[in-house]
Amino acid sequence: MTLFERARSLIPGGVSSPARAFGAVGGNPLFAERGEGAYIVSTDGHRFVDYIQGFGAVILGHAAPVVTKAIAGANARGGAVGLSTEAEVRLAELVCAHVPSIERVRFVTSGTEAAMTAARIARGATGRVLLVKFEGCYHGHADAFLAKAGSGVATHAVPMAAGVPEASVTDTVILAFNDSGALDELFARRGDEIAAVFVEPVAANMGVVVPEPGFLRRIVDLCRTHRAVSVFDEVVTGFRLGLGGAQGAMRITPDLTMLGKVLGGGLPIGAVGGRADLMDVLSPVGAVYQAGTYAAHPHAMAAGAAVLSALTPEDFDTLEGTATQLADGLTEAAKDAGIEATVVRSGTFLGVFFRGDAPRNFAQVQECDRDAFARFHASLRSSGVLLPPSPYEAWFPSLAHGPDEIAATIAAARSAFGETAR
Ligand code: PMP
Repeated sequence: MTLFERARSLIPGGVSSPARAFGAVGGNPLFAERGEGAYIVSTDGHRFVDYIQGFGAVILGHAAPVVTKAIAGANARGGAVGLSTEAEVRLAELVCAHVPSIERVRFVTSGTEAAMTAARIARGATGRVLLVKFEGCYHGHADAFLAKAGSGVATHAVPMAAGVPEASVTDTVILAFNDSGALDELFARRGDEIAAVFVEPVAANMGVVVPEPGFLRRIVDLCRTHRAVSVFDEVVTGFRLGLGGAQGAMRITPDLTMLGKVLGGGLPIGAVGGRADLMDVLSPVGAVYQAGTYAAHPHAMAAGAAVLSALTPEDFDTLEGTATQLADGLTEAAKDAGIEATVVRSGTFLGVFFRGDAPRNFAQVQECDRDAFARFHASLRSSGVLLPPSPYEAWFPSLAHGPDEIAATIAAARSAFGETAR
């Protein structure tokens, strides 16, 4: 019996997260034996240049020695201790030093929890209930965020998945990403009902979609004017678009920030941070309840502190150089193959859309040729390059990806685009 067969009989679909299924690209899920820098070694003995990189959780590459050493150190001191630790204070100091909008931070164990906590802080602080999010942005799998637009423009949302009660999304409004006009209208009509506006400052869960000039600033300004809370979901972009995240790179200051992924050095983590007065609505200072047995888990705190201490501004220049080289090589390869494909890069990460230009919102993302992506994915996989198994996931080169890995990827992409064209 294969590992997948064993898994499938015990774990729904054989995977513990649907993002790991290979349904969108064909074939069975891969099982990782181990990660090594830029590479994943699968249980069937193949070695891939890996662009999943823990869905963006590991920026130094897999099993970076500074991280494995920090985890080993934490391991020797126990697991969950149920008390505060110095490591969590150290990580909080690093977060607050790098992200100036964050005066106080609370550590949780996933991006999903960060979104739940941010929503509760915003609702508790404003006394309002309405949440606004943008179509195609992902903020984890809490009910209120698993919503899609209803039939009318800017009416309340409808559940995006079975098991999400309609009641839990009636206070969520979905707008199109990059649509500042719709946001203006919504605030004009219902500004005094809005608790928070959530946005991925660079959307990384519908492929990579960049914000148009003025869009993020409009969100922050409208929230300020109407005393709503702006929430930048920097689970992907935090410590990925530089040490200050998207807000540092773009010089825009939201009220609250969600973090995750890179922050935990590959271990389970999430965080919410922001102005002290907002954050202090949280229990035990304020009346907004939030808690967790594994919150600020010592292993994750140690791994996160190790990564954040290791990263330098020069590292981000290096990583951006790597991502640029990759994006340029892919663009050229697609052009030479006569394929309609657009590479969208935001600083250090990227995505490829099988369409003629860069989408500005989810409706345009959905116009892409998904079958072409599936063929492209399969061809690259057979050449030893592993992309995330969905056209909606971003590619994350790491600091362990060097010129050899990039050259190998571009060479593989040349033949993959050729095969995709056929
Ligand atoms: N926000 C964003 C922007 C994400 O990309 C993700 C995860 N892909 C989440 C939130 C949810 O994080 P988690 O999977 O840790 O719950």
